Order: sequence, then C-alpha cells, then structure tokens
Amino acid sequence: MAEIKALCMKCRDDKNKPTMQVMNDIKVSEKNNRFSAKGTCDKCKGNMFKFMSKDDAMKVGK
Ligand SMILES: [Zn+2]
Repeated sequence: MAEIKALCMKCRDDKNKPTMQVMNDIKVSEKNNRFSAKGTCDKCKGNMFKFMSKDDAMKVGK
C-alpha cells in the first residue's frame, strides 16, 4: 500500500501550523467522481481527511 501524507490539524509546528503526517488505516471513498481518503494520524492517532486524485486513489486502494 502506498504511503499517504496529509495535513494533521492536531500536530502543529512551532509556528502553530498544521504539519504533514503519515496517514494510517486509510479508507478511500468516491463521491461524484471525487476521491477522498480518511484515516488516522501516525503521530497523534487523530482523524485525518484528504482529497486525492483518482490516480492516487487507485494506488492506495490496492
Ligand atoms: Zn496528528
């Protein structure tokens, strides 16, 4: 499975900006031909959400 990174709203840097973290337990869903991934943050285990291209969705979906 491909590694997906997404912005985590809970893991912030010292400037209080969300940081990119690895997403675990990825579930890809499609709605109106728009693909998105839901998962949990590798660092804080918080929920994450990301829109993705169809190509990326196909890579993760397998
Ligand atoms: Zn996090």
